[in-house]
Amino acid sequence: MVIVGGGFGGLQVVAGLRRTPVEVTLVDRRNFHLFQPLTYQVATGALSPGEIAYPLRAIFKRQRNVQVLLAEVRDFDLGAHTVQLGSVSGIPASERLHYDRLVVAAGSTYSYFGHDDWRAYALEVKSIESALAARSRLLAAFEAAEAVPDTRERDAWLTFVVVGGGPTGVEMAGQIAELARDTLRRDFRRIDPRNARIILVEAADRILTSFPPSLSAKAERSLQRLGVTVLTRHTVVGIDADGVTLDDGNKSPNRIPSRVVIWLQASTLRPLPVDSVSSPARSATEPAGSPSRPTSRCPDTPKCSQSATWSASATRAARRVCYPVSRRSRCSRDATSRASSVPGLVTALMSRSSTATRATWRRSDGPPQSPTSAGSASAGSSPGRPGS
Ligand SMILES: Cc1cc2nc3c(=O)[nH]c(=O)nc-3n(C[C@H](O)[C@H](O)[C@H](O)COP(=O)(O)OP(=O)(O)OC[C@H]3O[C@@H](n4cnc5c(N)ncnc54)[C@H](O)[C@@H]3O)c2cc1C
Repeated sequence: MVIVGGGFGGLQVVAGLRRTPVEVTLVDRRNFHLFQPLTYQVATGALSPGEIAYPLRAIFKRQRNVQVLLAEVRDFDLGAHTVQLGSVSGIPASERLHYDRLVVAAGSTYSYFGHDDWRAYALEVKSIESALAARSRLLAAFEAAEAVPDTRERDAWLTFVVVGGGPTGVEMAGQIAELARDTLRRDFRRIDPRNARIILVEAADRILTSFPPSLSAKAERSLQRLGVTVLTRHTVVGIDADGVTLDDGNKSPNRIPSRVVIWLQASTLRPLPVDSVSSPARSATEPAGSPSRPTSRCPDTPKCSQSATWSASATRAARRVCYPVSRRSRCSRDATSRASSVPGLVTALMSRSSTATRATWRRSDGPPQSPTSAGSASAGSSPGRPGS
């Protein structure tokens, strides 16, 4: 079996195959598993990268049926049962990898709702690289504010806009506020970091829409206490080098000069090249009301499953996780209802990954296995060793 991606989804599938006579190859373009829920802490300097990354080889060193391959997946040939690989950092990789069963768990990427030009100006925190870039820009903003004499310019440097009032946006805004109000409080002479404006923008009528309204209200009050301005019912209609333009329903758009904009808005499936394969992709795997079409979907084949992650809510995330239970790939409806009561998205994802493992294994030649640790990991747990 070939598993693409050593994130939560991929690891759960591999761990589920621990006591099976299946030869597993885990392919990832990084040699480490990244604990994504804490990348925002790297972005704000609270954690170092090494604290949230763990080598894939170390995770699976006791699981003898697993080999880890450092390579970038470039293409699939589902007819020939091969994955095309590319080299990472000049490290040699075989061009093709044969599989009997394929699981694609390559994660997600943020959607800019068709405005991909905004990507050049907005920061993200999905990878170690992007979190480090965000950290660099955040800290540089305080330095720049200290250096510029012009007050308008200084205010723009000290205005931080976080787009997306989901759990990640809430955490990020709160963490920047703590950085400004607490960590950096005494470090500058010309500016007072406590004067920084941290603005959390959300298009819906409340933040944390996947949680009960009482929790949204409580979170908003906590953010306000930290000094975060929460702008609900505001839609981003423009991002450029000088700031953000918001539409709040009034005639004229609201312009916020800012040098640091962080985008934490709706994820879509990472665009792997499965659309190019001969099997038609199934649009049924796309969630209803998705802001933009994922470019990578489950091909209509029982031998490939794709686990994916959240968009704006646990419900949507679960809808996107599809697995091969019959001739036709299909999305799990029961996952949708279950996930709506499970706010921990990693939990929902891992539970679905376990289901994918069992379903795939049931279709192979071996006997069915007992369920593995479905749903045992939570977002708050540290990156453990699934094999131990
Ligand atoms: C800041 C932040 C905070 C979060 N907080 C929470 C939280 O509190 N609770 C919660 O439940 N969820 C949270 N999430 C979401 C959660 O982290 C993700 O849902 C989860 O990590 C996704 O796991 P995954 O396995 O689908 O993808 P990923 O973890 O993204 O793993 C995908 C893997 O595939 C590899 N890959 C991608 N493309 C290729 C390729 N072409 N070739 C080879 N390898 C490839 C990548 O290197 C990566 O290792 C948060 C996310 C972020 C960014």
